[in-house]
Parts: sequence; structure tokens; C-alpha cells
Amino acid sequence: MNSKKQIRAKAARMLPEVFRRDRGKCRYCGKRVVMVRSIPEHRRVGKRHGDWVKFVDEHGKHRRELVATVDHLQRVDEGGDSDIDNMVLACGPCNRMMDLYYQQLRKL
Ligand SMILES: [Zn+2]
Repeated sequence: MNSKKQIRAKAARMLPEVFRRDRGKCRYCGKRVVMVRSIPEHRRVGKRHGDWVKFVDEHGKHRRELVATVDHLQRVDEGGDSDIDNMVLACGPCNRMMDLYYQQLRKL
């Protein structure tokens, strides 16, 4: 039996795989997201700005993109595991929106 902490750690490890499958786009809103770890440290501007990461791309252009997160279709709180089929790529705002949605559903 995996603890929630282990499930979340596995989700973090699986992020690159989920990212590839979903082609770097949030599955809910379709916006492009980026994996912070894929940006070399020296190109990053500051640490992280909430849902955003700022960096200088390979053309010297300043960019601001949404940070990629993994959303569990069956929520971790409800026994969902970090299998690739239970995860979708999401931006932070959509991930939180889904959390709220499921919280509301539980109250019905
Ligand atoms: Zn989104």
C-alpha cells in the first residue's frame, strides 16, 4: 500500500512521461506548460512565480510560461495512484480548479 506522499513523489517522477504524452499542453485549457527542471538554472529568472516560471530562452528572449503539474483523474485522496493512465498534464490554475470541483462534488 503506497502512502499519499509516495504517490505524489511518483507523480513528480512521472511528470516527463505525462508531459510527452500530452505534448506539453494542459489537458483542461490547452495552454502550453513547461517543466521547470527542463530549463537550465542559468536561464531562469528568479525561482518560481506562483504558477509561472520566467526564463530566457535559447534565442535570448524573455519568456513567462505556466509551470507543468500532474493532475490525478481519480484523486489521490480517493485512492488514485500515480499510474500514467490516471494522470494528465495540467497548469496550476486548472489543477486547483479540479481540486475545488471534486471537493464540491463530495459535499453533494
Ligand atoms: Zn490549464
